[in-house]
Amino acid sequence: MVGLMTSTAKIRLYVDHPLGAGQCVALDRDQAHYLFGVMRQGEGAAVLLFNGRDGEWLAHVTRAAKRAGELTCAHQTRPLQMPPDLWLLFAPIKKARTDFIVEKAAEMGAARICPVQTEFTNAERIRQDRLQAHAVEAAEQCGGTFVPQVDDLQRLDRVLDGWDQTRQLMFCDEALSGELSGLPDRAAAAGPWAILIGPEGGFSEAERARLRDLPFAHAVSLGPRILRADTAAVAAMTLWQMALGDWR
Ligand code: SAH
Repeated sequence: MVGLMTSTAKIRLYVDHPLGAGQCVALDRDQAHYLFGVMRQGEGAAVLLFNGRDGEWLAHVTRAAKRAGELTCAHQTRPLQMPPDLWLLFAPIKKARTDFIVEKAAEMGAARICPVQTEFTNAERIRQDRLQAHAVEAAEQCGGTFVPQVDDLQRLDRVLDGWDQTRQLMFCDEALSGELSGLPDRAAAAGPWAILIGPEGGFSEAERARLRDLPFAHAVSLGPRILRADTAAVAAMTLWQMALGDWR
């Protein structure tokens, strides 16, 4: 849990609980510890709550105990703001860098985060619960009212087997480095999208051949240099948000 110190200095908390006028929200142990123990808040303190569905609500602490507590919602401060329908598919890398990718994807407005296992992916498993917690923290910190779901690790070939062909895929292909971006413009690119970032070892030739043949895939370059996978994820999301997303 991360408190965002805005000009009104209110802590933002994600809760898995319905929010509405007069609604009481019970805090779990960790939240009570964070709010009362770490952040030194007490009864009457104002906190901003969101649950990913009902927007953001101003709430006040109506009960504060060591390991429990309760907040009561006053009024909505912001409506739910959904990100564009953009998924980030990425091959997990080392732990700290994978955490970074999930945090940045949540901040940058991914609707869903999908770790995928490619031929050259080293990670055999991920801690989905830990990654989901990173996405929650990022949303708390960045003022988001939506929390992207983090999927469990799936094999890229199976994900592609079951692909909904109406979702376009921005395939970030390091073999194209140095070429023009290749991202279609807004007029040609309406509808849902996903970005695909490979692992440190890049994509295999077999994967590249399959991806290039997919009718919904667009092979894209991220400039003249080879970026690390975590940098590439942020760069690709920037490019997509700017060209096709909610940055303008
Ligand atoms: N080891 C590989 C690089 C992998 S970089 C090599 O040396 O060729 C990790 C991932 O970031 C790539 O799979 C790709 O998805 C993305 N990426 C990095 N730089 C890129 C670029 N210039 N253009 C497109 N994608 C890039």
